[in-house]
Amino acid sequence: MHKEKDVAIVGSGLVGSLLAIFLRNQGHKVTVFDRRPDVRKVQFSGRSINLAMSNRGWKALREAGVEDEIRDLALPLDKRAMHVEGQPVYFQKYGEEGEAIYSISRGVLNRKMIDLAEAAGAEFRFEEKIWDVDMKEARLYTGESEKSVWKEYKFDLIFGADGAFSRVRHKMQRQSRFNYSQHFIDVGYKELTILANEDGSHKLDNSSFHIWPRGNFMLIAMPNLDGTFTCTLFMPFEGDISFESLKTEQQADAFFETYFPDIKDEISNLKKDFFKNPTSAMVTIKCFPWSYFDKITLVGDSAHAIVPFYGQGMNAGFEDISVLNEKIDKYGDDWEQIFEEYQTERKPNADAIAELSYRNFIEMSSKTANPLFLLRKKIEKKFAQNHPDLWIPLYSRVTFSDKAYSEALKIGDYQREIMDEVMKIPHIEETWESKEVEQKIIDLINN
Ligand SMILES: Cc1cc2nc3c(=O)[nH]c(=O)nc-3n(C[C@H](O)[C@H](O)[C@H](O)COP(=O)(O)OP(=O)(O)OC[C@H]3O[C@@H](n4cnc5c(N)ncnc54)[C@H](O)[C@@H]3O)c2cc1C
Repeated sequence: MHKEKDVAIVGSGLVGSLLAIFLRNQGHKVTVFDRRPDVRKVQFSGRSINLAMSNRGWKALREAGVEDEIRDLALPLDKRAMHVEGQPVYFQKYGEEGEAIYSISRGVLNRKMIDLAEAAGAEFRFEEKIWDVDMKEARLYTGESEKSVWKEYKFDLIFGADGAFSRVRHKMQRQSRFNYSQHFIDVGYKELTILANEDGSHKLDNSSFHIWPRGNFMLIAMPNLDGTFTCTLFMPFEGDISFESLKTEQQADAFFETYFPDIKDEISNLKKDFFKNPTSAMVTIKCFPWSYFDKITLVGDSAHAIVPFYGQGMNAGFEDISVLNEKIDKYGDDWEQIFEEYQTERKPNADAIAELSYRNFIEMSSKTANPLFLLRKKIEKKFAQNHPDLWIPLYSRVTFSDKAYSEALKIGDYQREIMDEVMKIPHIEETWESKEVEQKIIDLINN
């Protein structure tokens, strides 16, 4: 049994509400602040951003004792459906039999997580924005505005789960030797919807993650339980084909008709969303340290925001909570040691998944149509199928395992060097399925 602490969590997003469940399970008093109104009470179509939940996310939910409730809200996707221009749709299995990522609506998930945290005894204070933090004393200040009279709260511990533009981190940044960087990519995103058929069924295969790779831009779609698909259009902010260049209905019609002919019937709805929904930016944020003595630590996007091209932001945030929990089990009431080990262990892993996510962005935008790149992937896949003991693909290490992200990055780099050599084999396009190529990979691994 732990010594009960009076704990504040800033942010009732996915990571903050999961942390609230863990801390309540350990018997602490938990108050969660959020500047937004209660998401369970605001009018919400249920069709906001969709997230892919994978192994690391499920592991954390299992440890919190809420996995089954969340599974009911998710749809398994065991393959990609590739909608390449000028070709019929083809499917690529994600992993081994039974391995899948899970499509879940962020809004639906967040509502459920808050319900579960509240049922576990956490108190939620919505529409209370944190303006300042007294780090030494673990005090929080909330109020109407930066200039209004603030209300003061005193706690034993504070967790900053307040997302990429964290106020808690902002305060920590004023310390000497606090490192911080942020990098926006020049691509933005917009949410669009494919409606359900009249009978409520899905218009596309509902056990696939759909991708329309188009070089500089890309559309993806993930199914919802209600028969709709949430699509995300990733596209440069400026340039020939960009959010800026599509200004009129005619331009949007021509764009969807030209590049997405297989969902042509959806154009009027896609177009409506295109002009109605905001265009959002994507950023990688890195910082260190994450903790302040035994008083404060950052979790989730506030510590490490990443671009979404590996589908790991929430998964990584949930894994933070798993690791924190492990450290609490190990060190009991020694919060300084808990925070210190947590940040030391997590930082290289957060940096690794940031790097992998950024690389995937480059790969998806510039390489998916390159025949040599596709051949490389085919060779890797075939070898991994024949020699699962020698080769686990990088995607599987990240998505279907809970081994460290930093290890996945390191092994991925080593596999890339091997594949660079394989691709130098003369006439590899013709010989890639031969025994010689297979043996060459084995020799390279053994060397
Ligand atoms: C397009 C897109 C697709 C994505 N796809 C995936 C995916 O497939 N899989 C995946 O794992 N991840 C994905 N992610 C990432 C995922 O959405 C985030 O990593 C996750 O939501 C982070 O959760 P969080 O709780 O740390 O932060 P947030 O969800 O940002 O929550 C922060 C909370 O803090 C509150 N807050 C902020 N400031 C204050 C303040 N001063 N006072 C009080 N409250 C405050 C906010 O209101 C908010 O409720 C995606 C992200 C994007 C943008």
